[in-house]
Amino acid sequence: MIDKLGFPSILANRWPHCHQERFFVVVSAFNLPKFDQMHAPCAVCGLNFESETGFYTGSLYVSYALFVAWTLTNFGLFALFLGIDVLSFLWPLIGSNAVLTPYFFRLACRIWFRIFMST
Ligand SMILES: [Zn+2]
Repeated sequence: MIDKLGFPSILANRWPHCHQERFFVVVSAFNLPKFDQMHAPCAVCGLNFESETGFYTGSLYVSYALFVAWTLTNFGLFALFLGIDVLSFLWPLIGSNAVLTPYFFRLACRIWFRIFMST
């Protein structure tokens, strides 16, 4: 079931279609000059990764949801569960959101692709 939803390929930077070619050219999301570069049509299955111009613009909604989930999870953990003052972890939380931006961007693109291009 989990494999049918494409979670392993989404998390492993693989195309949800053939599970072989890398979704993004570079492995690390933190290689900032190249973190957003995708392969041209897949070398294995030939699928075009960008079906239309601006296709991945919608992945911003997914990215937003990932940031909200990250922020609420950290707020729940630190403020509600551990009882730490909100102001003491607010700046580290904002910093973590900034650091995780390339990772969430890439994850959101893969999820978006999986939602609309799965076969
Ligand atoms: Zn492929």
